[in-house]
Amino acid sequence: MQKHIMVVDDSPTIRSSVAFCLRNAGYEVDEAKDGQDALERLDVLKEAGTPLALILTDINMPRMDGLTFIGKVKATAFRYLPILVLTTEGEQGMIDRGKVAGASGWLIKPFHPEQLLWAIRKLIYTK
Ligand SMILES: [Mg+2]
Repeated sequence: MQKHIMVVDDSPTIRSSVAFCLRNAGYEVDEAKDGQDALERLDVLKEAGTPLALILTDINMPRMDGLTFIGKVKATAFRYLPILVLTTEGEQGMIDRGKVAGASGWLIKPFHPEQLLWAIRKLIYTK
């Protein structure tokens, strides 16, 4: 069965290029435009009983940023899912805050397809 990944980013360009890369690699992709939108979609997936393998999220987003979103996911049924961050933020203090919130991995934009797919495989198959 195809692994399902949720991609959360406020940039439609990033969302579609990342989603294209993931679909090409055989993943099923759900897209959300910010943390709030993503939480609502998680509810829908939960209701539908759709298993999710991983969440890939941006940090800087309107309405609900990535750090807040990660913290909220940790209070849901999806708390054990690996959460990979893909962001322009590379400052150690921010990365540490992400780890504390519950991020499993941290990648800096621009995204490189091979690096992204490697990080995703590692998190999905070795958690
Ligand atoms: Mg952003």
